Amino acid sequence: MKRTKKKNKRNMKNKKKSYQKRNRMLLFICIVVIAFTCFIIGKREETILANGEAVSLSEIKNIIEEKQAKVNRYIVYGTHLNLEGEIEILSEVENAQIVLRKEGGEENVIDTTYETSNNLLSFSTLDKINEGIDLENLDICDYFLLLKISYLNGQEKYYSLENNSQYQEKIEYYTITKNNLNNKINIEFVNKNNISAFVLNVNKISKLPEDMYDVVIDPGHGGSDSGAISGIYREDEIVLDCSLELKKKLEDLGLKVLLTRDGTEGKQYDMYNIYDKDGRVTMANESGAKILVSLHLNSNESDFVDGGVEVYASPNMDYKLAMDLSDNIVHTANTTYSKMESFKEELGVYVRTIDVEKNLESFKGYKRNL
Ligand SMILES: [Zn+2]
Repeated sequence: MKRTKKKNKRNMKNKKKSYQKRNRMLLFICIVVIAFTCFIIGKREETILANGEAVSLSEIKNIIEEKQAKVNRYIVYGTHLNLEGEIEILSEVENAQIVLRKEGGEENVIDTTYETSNNLLSFSTLDKINEGIDLENLDICDYFLLLKISYLNGQEKYYSLENNSQYQEKIEYYTITKNNLNNKINIEFVNKNNISAFVLNVNKISKLPEDMYDVVIDPGHGGSDSGAISGIYREDEIVLDCSLELKKKLEDLGLKVLLTRDGTEGKQYDMYNIYDKDGRVTMANESGAKILVSLHLNSNESDFVDGGVEVYASPNMDYKLAMDLSDNIVHTANTTYSKMESFKEELGVYVRTIDVEKNLESFKGYKRNL
């Protein structure tokens, strides 16, 4: 036992040394890409809200108007649920909010951005990614989602929500593992006695389903695609080593981690099929993970470039996580922020948008209902 430990320690030391050597030789620019996975369609089979039996609509029936608000789009992105919709209005509006109402009347209120024109009010909870309805901190109960409009004439009215979007399936969301526990949230429209209601049903579960994960780590490139290369050093091999180590560290913290590749993929592994059935984008989306980290390294042979950290994040979000990551890498790895100016959002934080629709069009084989 002792011997093995010693041996591991020595291996670690050797590994460390070889990375330092590589750093000197390649002047690496380290790139971490973080994104929040986005999933619209759930496909798990448990049905806690079967036929809406578990939900009593009688209570909200007493407070809602006959008219309903239409939800044109709803989406879970990262840890938040967001919706966009519209409703006809009769008088001037002072405020429009989404209310999460518990049985008993307790309310969580979420502000929307809204605009009115020709007696139509359009609302959206989606202003920035990771704003909106926080799914990580809900109580274990059922919530009804209602639109609450405060009119300038002093009236306050509640409207139930009907599904006017192209998504008809239930979304199943699993919260990030904390102390070996997760909440499972069923997000769905239920119909009963001519009332349509948008309901969040929150339950505690003791384990994530086998195919659900907290975090996805994507070691860049792989197979026949080496990524950056310099002499005998290949980006795909180094980021795989880093990813395996990161996976272990996150697992020690109790998180469930999925790797998009683990080094056993053959030479035929084709990075360009990222949206294919087994592609890395599809894998990340279907894993239910809240955070995706893609590790990359750039090489630069020039003596004039110092290298440094570039953390690429999704557009239109709060970049605190990206900034923290960038700062931590700079300090713990004793390196610098990248000096590259294009796509720079903050020191060490970069934002590049990718036209997903355009990309998807080029992959005819497998297309999700985005
Ligand atoms: Zn790369």
